[in-house]
Amino acid sequence: MTDIIIIGAGPAGLTAGIYARRAEKSVLILEKGAFGGQMTYSPQIDNYPGIPSVSGAEIADRMVGQALDLGVEIEVEEVTRVTDGEAPEYYKRVECESGAVYEARAVIIASGAEHRHLGVPGEDAHIGAGISFCAVCDGAFYRGRDVAVVGGGNSALQEALMLSNVCAHVTILQNLPTLTGEQALRDAIASRDNVDVICSVTVAEVKPAADGAFGGLVIEHADTGARESIDCDGAFVAIGLAPKNEPFESVTSLDDGGYILSDESCFCETPGVFVAGDCRTKSVRQIATAVADGAAAALAACRYLG
Ligand SMILES: Cc1cc2nc3c(=O)[nH]c(=O)nc-3n(C[C@H](O)[C@H](O)[C@H](O)COP(=O)(O)OP(=O)(O)OC[C@H]3O[C@@H](n4cnc5c(N)ncnc54)[C@H](O)[C@@H]3O)c2cc1C
Repeated sequence: MTDIIIIGAGPAGLTAGIYARRAEKSVLILEKGAFGGQMTYSPQIDNYPGIPSVSGAEIADRMVGQALDLGVEIEVEEVTRVTDGEAPEYYKRVECESGAVYEARAVIIASGAEHRHLGVPGEDAHIGAGISFCAVCDGAFYRGRDVAVVGGGNSALQEALMLSNVCAHVTILQNLPTLTGEQALRDAIASRDNVDVICSVTVAEVKPAADGAFGGLVIEHADTGARESIDCDGAFVAIGLAPKNEPFESVTSLDDGGYILSDESCFCETPGVFVAGDCRTKSVRQIATAVADGAAAALAACRYLG
């Protein structure tokens, strides 16, 4: 019987594993994709304290290595359902897509959140190299260059404002007839000389340049169906984040956005189930906050196990 199963090997899950192993609990991490989570998408991380400039892949490797060295086990599995056990043990049952079923005395959900993608041709090939989902993270790479921001809500407008401070020009592409972000943000956008807004358009395609690198966007006007090229050096997609927390609905409560309801304590409503990182309700989703949650959730789980 494993003491703690952790779902997700992003920074939250890996940190939870490191803390739990140091408390001498047995730990199994189940990860459906890349070890390192969203970090593996980032070509460079400049805001993680103590490691001033590091690629996402490198910091992911270091975290995974540290966890494995401490005795954390990691299996490639997609978790499809978590259920609570019965008295007196209350073992948690973790079911996977492969048909495998694991049991543990406690579970930490660290399943992250995925930025909604455009879902258009050419996008996947340029994620991290022309297509970004995070101006805070990647905006500096486009200093003095032209970029597009896709989206018109609060996040998109905040990203556009941030980018307009460092980029030569920002074009906001909004699918609705008007921007939907709050008035103060719309006013701030209107006051920027280097920001243009194009409404009622959708992105139809990410264009490859002759050498295969990012070559701009093709947009489609909703009223006429006409297509137009947008020349830019990069595009920031800010059309929302999407958690994938359906497998955990029987042991947690989700908010309207699908995030697991919890606070800094990382407790869930089911005793023995904890949550860490981007998958929970919170205002800042970054590596530093995911790592903080991982530590808090692991220590809470260790206290629960006694
Ligand atoms: C392109 C990009 C650049 C970024 N740059 C920075 C930056 O410079 N600085 C910074 O601080 N933050 C950055 N971020 C944000 C940061 O990466 C995230 O906030 C952080 O990774 C969240 O960590 P997490 O462990 O909560 O979730 P994630 O990193 O999302 O990890 C969750 C893991 O859980 C797995 N998982 C999900 N569901 C299941 C399931 N059912 N079964 C098994 N496994 C599952 C996923 O595959 C994933 O590996 C960036 C994000 C992106 C996308």
